[in-house]
Amino acid sequence: MQVPFLDLQAQYEAVIDDVNRLVAEVVASRAFCNGPLVRRAEQELAAYCGCAEAVAVSSGTDALLVSLMALGIGPGDEVITTPFTFFATAGVVWRAGARPVFVDIEADTFNIDPAKIEAAVTERTRAIIPVHLYGQMADMDAIMAIADRHDLAVIEDAAQAIGATYRGRPACSIGTTGCLSFYPTKNLGAMGDAGMVLTQDAALAARLRQLRNHGQGSTYIHDSVGGNFRADSLAMAGVAAKLPRLAAWTDTLRRHGARYDALLAGCDGVTTPAVRDGCEPVYHQYVLRCADRDGLKAHLAGRDVASGVYYPLCLHLQPCFAALGYSAGDLPVAEQASREVLALPIYPEMTDEQVEYVAASVKAFFGAS
Ligand SMILES: *Cc1c(COP(=O)(O)O)cnc(C)c1O
Repeated sequence: MQVPFLDLQAQYEAVIDDVNRLVAEVVASRAFCNGPLVRRAEQELAAYCGCAEAVAVSSGTDALLVSLMALGIGPGDEVITTPFTFFATAGVVWRAGARPVFVDIEADTFNIDPAKIEAAVTERTRAIIPVHLYGQMADMDAIMAIADRHDLAVIEDAAQAIGATYRGRPACSIGTTGCLSFYPTKNLGAMGDAGMVLTQDAALAARLRQLRNHGQGSTYIHDSVGGNFRADSLAMAGVAAKLPRLAAWTDTLRRHGARYDALLAGCDGVTTPAVRDGCEPVYHQYVLRCADRDGLKAHLAGRDVASGVYYPLCLHLQPCFAALGYSAGDLPVAEQASREVLALPIYPEMTDEQVEYVAASVKAFFGAS
């Protein structure tokens, strides 16, 4: 048996008729940038995420960047975030001219540890960017309480967590803004790059819409300096075609996650992912912890099972951030995670037999059956 890491081929077979119909609609309308299909997707995603407003943009990275711009965060400001995430989370803080301040993570959920945030708050701190890593939300009640005490904005990086809930509330609906990525391999992938900012704040949404289009107020009159952060209509046709299936796909991911949990329970040598009380993750990744991570990865490859490492180098140790002055050992929980995590294949088109084969292959590494 062969188990790839993801199967976009199978995913598109399920939606190809809708894709073709929506692409034809965009071509017929000639509204290639930020057209009516994009408007419709904004309304549908606002509803899906329990948010009042949605602003489609060019990528998940740009959703984060334009959030910072709309909040007026820039030079002299500090933004607290996690070192254990995709690069974009901190890259945008740097690009906005502000300083990323990294706070260590919880060992069990891999998300930012709220107990360590307050010690990092200074008079320059303006915002916190929690990341809902692998599809499980960060501890939002604790994070929002700290933000309220210090008057900070909260930008949820929900690029991996569309549809996840925290005590009944969906990702993107709790913070000042929530940011989605529709990169093709995300749980809801576009046909190209695209992203979205969600918010409950109508005035903030108006600012985001202006900044998305070079800060233009009325035609060729620019109230502020924004950028070209518009979403491509053709890329968003993929999102529009898949959104009606997302809830069912998410159910399947949760079922596969529960099956892995059951099959790997009691397998000495790996730790299966912890789920926070009252949280429903969406399993963008199913991530094990294993002391001999690289050995397990090679063993799986030998059995035609793909796996991935997210992420092998923490952001505070990235060469580009050397000027921030961090060294190895500063954020030990995240650094240990970067040595031990291994993501197994998980996608809606995966068969139960494939899940069982992957779990059996993991167990075989430890000599268990
Ligand atoms: C994918 C991702 C992003 C960036 O999204 P793009 O659409 O690729 O720009 C940001 N943060 C996290 C956690 C991601 O996984």
